[in-house]
Formats: sequence, structure tokens, C-alpha cells
Amino acid sequence: METKYIFVTGGVVSSLGKGIISASLACLLKARGFRVTIQKFDPYINIDPGTLNPYEHGECYVTVDGHEADLDLGHYERFTNVPTTRANNVTTGRIYQSVIDKERRGDYLGKTVQIIPHITDEIKRNVKRLGNTGNFDFIITEIGGTVGDIESLPFIESVRQLCWELGQNGLSIHLTYVPFLKAAKELKTKPTQHSVKQLQEVGIQPDILVLRTEKDIPADMRRKIAQFCNVTPDAVVQSIDCPSIYEVPLMLHHQHVDEIVLRKMGMPVEGEPHMAPWMHFIDKLHHAKEEVTIGLVGKYVELQDAYKSINESLLHAATYNDRKLNLKYIHSEKVNPENVDSMLNDLDGVIIAPGFGQRGIEGKFVALKWCREHDIPTFGICLGMQCMVIEFARNVLGLADANSTEMNSTTRNNVIDLMEEQKSISNMGGTMRLGAYDCQLLPDSRAAKAYGTTFVKERHRHRFEFNNDYRKQFESAGMRCVGENPSTHLVEVVELPDKRWWIGTQYHPEYQSTVLNPSPLFIDFIKAAIEYHNEKNAEAGY
Ligand code: GLN
Repeated sequence: METKYIFVTGGVVSSLGKGIISASLACLLKARGFRVTIQKFDPYINIDPGTLNPYEHGECYVTVDGHEADLDLGHYERFTNVPTTRANNVTTGRIYQSVIDKERRGDYLGKTVQIIPHITDEIKRNVKRLGNTGNFDFIITEIGGTVGDIESLPFIESVRQLCWELGQNGLSIHLTYVPFLKAAKELKTKPTQHSVKQLQEVGIQPDILVLRTEKDIPADMRRKIAQFCNVTPDAVVQSIDCPSIYEVPLMLHHQHVDEIVLRKMGMPVEGEPHMAPWMHFIDKLHHAKEEVTIGLVGKYVELQDAYKSINESLLHAATYNDRKLNLKYIHSEKVNPENVDSMLNDLDGVIIAPGFGQRGIEGKFVALKWCREHDIPTFGICLGMQCMVIEFARNVLGLADANSTEMNSTTRNNVIDLMEEQKSISNMGGTMRLGAYDCQLLPDSRAAKAYGTTFVKERHRHRFEFNNDYRKQFESAGMRCVGENPSTHLVEVVELPDKRWWIGTQYHPEYQSTVLNPSPLFIDFIKAAIEYHNEKNAEAGY
């Protein structure tokens, strides 16, 4: 079949959930047996979000091929179970960089280089890149930002041209907002009408409208919107707040969105999507009553999106363990030896978050010491793993000044140090150790048992590493290096085998946890937290 292209734009306000809608549609099409991928085009000038502070843009997601990507790619993978790559996330910066490189090479043969056609052609080439591989039936393209923004105009113009060129192989979905005015007790459709008008003014006629709303939109109101916006009434659907984002595919399917897409693209509508494995997860999500309480110790706790993939991995793991996730954010800057007991003592398990820089680091050491001494299941990820190593060096090996050279470049006991190949790097963008690397696990390790294999491939994003000069000292005091990269011998996983569950990973297992393929390490961590919870309760006589 010819590749079909679906474009998702948003209007009225940002944060309407275009990423979730795109991922949910992909989930349904995949469940109908199609090969689907989703890509995001972001209108900002940064080459990628790798240099952005989480306060600006939430978590930086990492793809298997080592691209630092927008966090929506995480949703795409979690909903479709299909890995994304560098080609799935393109920014204005990347488009301009490649056009300017071509101009310098002389590729434009003396022509004046302009937004139309040169920038738009470059955008179109990138939109079609994955489609041209022949690996996909559907390419869903989410355009970041809101229609009407100056900076998204070249993308919108490219979508217009593509829709025109693709005919029935192109489809436009527009997401808008229908506010409910409390005082008037009314839902308001005017912002939607305006947003569609704005899209029509730039030459795009939406085929499907998705109305984000907090209240049910009556059928006659949807008909009215259909009439105003030149959209067929069945193709005006609502996206009402769901208790979980993972219910959105079902909500769209109930409104036949997958069928409408197929029909509008001239394809036969046969049978139903195979959603049984997804439903199995949703059933567990609905039925889990008992809680498991996990604390996430990090410095970006005010910001939900900063640890998005960790939150979702914990939710997947808790759900498959038939537990409701009770996630508590613990601000690492606020933890000190005086309050640590009251801050952590109701937790069944603790995650020490990834991160960069000095801020909040001392609180992580205090939390880790307390967790180690109280034998709480503890999971350190990336910087969290490095903190486990430093805390152990200081408090068990007696190396009081042990540190990472990231925090103190002149420390004598540099148990965490800059990787050799990082030493000559001065450019910050895209230069960390990024993407999936092999890891060999010791067969008798807890990590190998959790994975059910001794060979894994997980994704990385760091510059610093465990200093192998100290390996013997750590191992003789009880901290085992149970996972390493087979070719470079970089330490990837450490464990304290005499503890209930004490594992640190230099890699980020959270990037690979999906609804249908949850991370085995997170599953095992939650299992240990539940066991610990039950032990505590048994002791307390519950
Ligand atoms: N700052 C640490 C490093 O660069 C850890 C990075 C992380 O947690 N992602 O090695």
C-alpha cells in the first residue's frame, strides 16, 4: 500500500495533548495490523532539546540511536511499542542548519535561498523521510506549537502543500479546546471556530476535529461545529479528560476515529483493532486497589514532566503488579539528616533520580544513607547510581572526600570521573554518551534475575562514569559491579547483594518501558517494594 500521512495540529491553547492523541491513534492503527510511526516537528531554533533545561521543556527523551528528543517521543513509544529514532524528531534549528549547510556547499546553484520553497522543501523532505523507507503504512506527524504562531508558519505551509500533493493519502486532524464557562454554565465553541478559520486561511481544511473538553459536548453542538468548519459531523469527536492517558485510545475508538481515518483515506474498514493486550493492562489499572508508595528523590519535583518516563515506568510496573501507584516527590534540596526519617519512613521504595550538577546532590546522599541503613528497596538511575557509588565510598569505604569530578573537579577520590572520550569535548549539544549500549550482567545478580537474561541493551545519557580504579575496593566492601559494557568495560550496573533491593544503573531503563513491554527492572523493583510493604505490615500486626 502507498504510505499514508496524517498531520496533527493544535489550536486555541497549548498543552491540549496532541502527543497523546497522535500516540493513541497510532496505537489503534497498530492494533489493526498497520505499521505505524509518529514524528514530531518542533518549531523552536534549538537543534534538539538536549541543551534545554527541564524547566523549559520537561524531560529530555533519548532514542535507541542516541538522539536527544522531545518527551512526546516517549509517549509514542509507550503507546505503540515501536522504537523511534533521530528521524522522528525534527526542529526548526535542524531544518535551518541543513539548508544553510547546503547553501554553503553551493547546492542551490546561485539561487536566493528563501523560506518558500527552500525551508518548506526541506521540511517536506524530512516529513517524508520515514515514509520513503517503505517500513511504514502510516506516518503520523505532530506539529508542535499552536496554529497562528509565527514560528510554526513554515511547518503549516509545508503541511498545506503536502495535503494538496498527497490527495487521499494525506489527512489533517486539528485539535482544539472547548472551554466551559462556569458563570454562564456553558460550553463555548467560538475558539474552535476561530482556530479552524485560522487554519483555513493558511489553506488547510481539517478532515477530523478533536475537541478537548472537560465536559461532555452535546451532539447538536458538535453538529453545529461540523457545519461551521466544513467537517463531516461524524468526524467531530471529543477528547474528554480521562482518569488515565492510557484510556485515550479506547475513548477515540468508541467514537470510531480509527474507522473514520481509514474511510477518509480510501481504505477498507475491516473488523476491529486487536486491543486485548492493551485491555488487559487497563483492566489491571482499574482493579488495582492496594497501593505501593514510592518516593522519587530529585530536584525538579515541582515539574511533573521532568521525570515523565520514570513516572510512566513506575505506573506500568505497579499496574502489572496489581498495585495502585502512590508516587511521592521528594525535593532533594530539602532532605537533611534531621528530617530524613520523617520524609522517607512511609515509603515502600525509593528512586534516586537522574540529573546534572551540584544542586540538590547532598540531599541525595542523606536519603541514600538512610535507605541503605534501613534496607529500603532503592533504585538509582544515572546520576542516582553515581550517588549510590559516592555515598558508599564516603560512608562505607571511609573516603570522606569521595565525589564525582562533575561536582568537584579536584577531588582526590574521584570515584565517578569523566569518561576518557569526553575529556576533549567542549561542545555541549549531542556530545554525551547517548543511546543504546550493550550490557553484560553477571548471571547470579539480582538485575540478571529481574531481566531473565544476562545480556541487555539500554539507553544512556551521561558524560561521567564509575572509575574502574576503585572497582576492587568497592567489591571487597560488598558493592558489586554486576553489569558492564563488554567492549569498554564501563560499569553499567551496581548492586548491594546483602540488601533487599539495591540497584544502580548508569543507563536509563525508563526510556524503554512501554505499556505492552514494561521494564523488567522496574517490575522487579516494585515487586521488592510490595514485599517490603507486606513485611512492614506483618511486623506492625496488620
Ligand atoms: N550528570 C551525570 C553525567 O553526566 C548523570 C547524567 C544523568 O543522570 N542523566 O554523567
